[in-house]
This record gives sequence, structure tokens and C-alpha cells, in this order.
Amino acid sequence: MKDDPPNDPAASAMSRPVVLRTRALSRYHGDFIVLDAIDLEIRKGEKIAILGPSGAGKSTLIRCFNRIEAHDSGKLSIHGQVIDRNTDLVKLRGMVGLVFQDYNLFPHLSVLDNCTLAPRIVRHADPVGARDLALQFLEKMGIAEQAEKYPAQLSGGQRQRVAIARALCMQPEIMLFDEPTAALDPEAISDVKNIINDLCAAGITTVFVTHEMGFARHVADRVMFMDRGKLLETAPAATFFHAPDSPRARAFLDRMLCL
Ligand code: ADP
Repeated sequence: MKDDPPNDPAASAMSRPVVLRTRALSRYHGDFIVLDAIDLEIRKGEKIAILGPSGAGKSTLIRCFNRIEAHDSGKLSIHGQVIDRNTDLVKLRGMVGLVFQDYNLFPHLSVLDNCTLAPRIVRHADPVGARDLALQFLEKMGIAEQAEKYPAQLSGGQRQRVAIARALCMQPEIMLFDEPTAALDPEAISDVKNIINDLCAAGITTVFVTHEMGFARHVADRVMFMDRGKLLETAPAATFFHAPDSPRARAFLDRMLCL
């Protein structure tokens, strides 16, 4: 029997409100099923690691969460509001921030302008307030001194920190990270992991796709394990890493932990 211990963070999160829910969420490319009827719930303040082999559909799933990719059938709702073709995408993406593996910064804008663009254009924030907020987040990321530089003048780790600061400037309710450390050198990996860990500790609802099992184990409350477009298993992180239910997850973990 797998009883959760009384102070299990995953168990205590279950009393909090659901912020994101999917029902039979599916996405296809031609005949190929990328997401196959995904049912899940994410609650306020949860830290969710989405794990699984390459090609499982992990990135596609979180890209559907802020509709950078559109699902083909099924239902996605955030705070009970259905997300579909009628959704105001600007508003949605302000609420659900996504940090990409390859940063996706605007190369022709300074670090500061990268961070203030969306708040000014989308939120109509006043320029001074947007600048102050951006500098606060850049400071938090340890790169305030790079504010006037352009992305090409920064290292990969610094660019990823700018990308995180930029997402935070929209003050999102949910932060999505798509393999945020995959393109980084070991020192930068450690810095970016610490930053995400701090965000999680601050209570922001966080969903991250990662191949770093140690990081997932350390940071996540719950793990969602995917393979071939299906969500095969959802479990508290401690349970998943100790004794995953599905043979596929067991084989995956065995392989990843031996690497
Ligand atoms: P993961 O993040 O788990 O590695 P992805 O979500 O990136 O997986 O991709 C899931 C599957 O969908 C992969 O097999 C990928 O090749 C396929 N796929 C993704 N985007 C496209 C596309 N635009 N056209 C065709 N197949 C795609």
C-alpha cells in the first residue's frame, strides 16, 4: 500500500484550488497522435515535473497550456475558464508564462527592453514602473548589471536568466519551463536550477519538463510521466522515484538513473 505520509507536500496540495484542468486533451499531426486524451489537474502552488522519453509529448502538452500550440480535441480550462480559439491569447500568456529551452529572447532588444516590452504593450504598464519591476527581477536573477546589453553579448546561462526574468515581469500565476537547462553548461545548469527552486519555494505554481531526474526529485511535489502521447502515471515525487507504478516508468527511471 502506498499511504502518503501526513506531511507529504503532494497530499497537502490536494486541498488547494485547481488552477489548470484538462479532459481528454488531444493533439494530432496528421494521423500521428501527439497527445492522447490527457486528463490532469494542477493545483495552486504545486510544483509538477513532467517526465518521459523524448517524443513523449511533454513539450507539446505544456505548449498547449498557454496555447502556443492549439489542442485538436478535448478540453483545457484555467481557473474554470475554457481555453479555446476564442480565448484572449495575450491575457492567457500573461497569466501562464513559458520559458523555453532556447530562451527565445528578442535579439534586437536590450535585456531591459526584452523584459519591459510585454508589460508595456500588453499590460499598458507605465514605462518607469515596468523598468523598476524588470530591474527587480533581473537583480533577483543576479544579472541586473547586464540590463543594457543585448542577448548576443550574454552567455547561455545569462540568457536563460533573462528569459526567466522576462516571464516573471508579466507576474504570471503559472510558470512553465520547457527543459530550461538543456542548452546550458554545468555551472549555468546549477544556477538556473537554483533559481527555479527559489521560485517554487516562493509558492508560484510551476510546471517543468526536464530530463534531470535529481532536480525533479528534489523540487517537484508531483511527477507526471508520459510516453507516446499518453499520461501513464501521476504520483507524488517521492512515490514515483521510490516505486513507479507502470513498467514503462520503471524502465525509464532505471535507464535515466544509470546514466
Ligand atoms: P517531448 O517534449 O516529449 O520530447 P514533443 O512534444 O516535442 O515531445 O513531441 C511529441 C511528438 O510529436 C514527437 O514524436 C514529435 O516528433 C512530434 N511532433 C511535434 N511537433 C510536430 C510537428 N510540427 N509535426 C509533426 N510531428 C511533430
